[in-house]
Amino acid sequence: MILREYLPNIDQSRCRKCRQCEEICPAAAIALAREGKRMAVDPERCIDCQRCMDACPENAITMVPRRAGRVLQVDLSRLDPEEVKRLCRRAGLAPGEAVCACSFITARELAGAVLLGAKTPEDVCAMTGVRRGCGIYCLVNVFKILEAGGITPEERKKSRLYHLPLDPLDIPEEKLRKIEAEFPQFRLREDVSLIGKFRGREFREEG
Ligand code: SF4
Ligand code: SF4
Repeated sequence: MILREYLPNIDQSRCRKCRQCEEICPAAAIALAREGKRMAVDPERCIDCQRCMDACPENAITMVPRRAGRVLQVDLSRLDPEEVKRLCRRAGLAPGEAVCACSFITARELAGAVLLGAKTPEDVCAMTGVRRGCGIYCLVNVFKILEAGGITPEERKKSRLYHLPLDPLDIPEEKLRKIEAEFPQFRLREDVSLIGKFRGREFREEG
């Protein structure tokens, strides 16, 4: 659940339609519109991550307050909780697990988005607010959920973020040993063990 308070405002006189904002938007909320004449924002999809503003080389984007802030939350009451749990388990994620270190959105919410019709990582983002911060670790989990739901998302041409093998439980033993030897200060094996224990416990408790 996140609160969306701001929206991008594009100064069309400064915009040269380079579309860098469109490429970086994790929610597919900004695009060339009106037969290629101007960039436009879809307020229903925008999650207020502000990446477009940072990316614009012309400083054409400013974030302005929405008329009314909106809480973004997947309505899990519309879904069968058992179906949500099954999808999380197929993805190897505990339903109550925070899948995004920036927003603390849970696996349950990602699963809810897929069950309510999300077909792409951008849809999951627009429906849940995941990828609002760093957009790296959580993306691994977005892929897991989509794939568990039978969806293989196509990579966007210029995206540099997709398919990073960042789930600690997916690191092969040989690589784990190498990282441990080189960077003992990261205590990666302890992390892996704690995540494994947490998921195991959650799976038992969630049934
Ligand atoms: S990044 Fe800036 S200049 Fe480029 S299309 Fe978007 S608003 Fe226009
Ligand atoms: S989701 Fe982020 S990048 Fe996309 S339009 Fe909204 S503020 Fe800009």
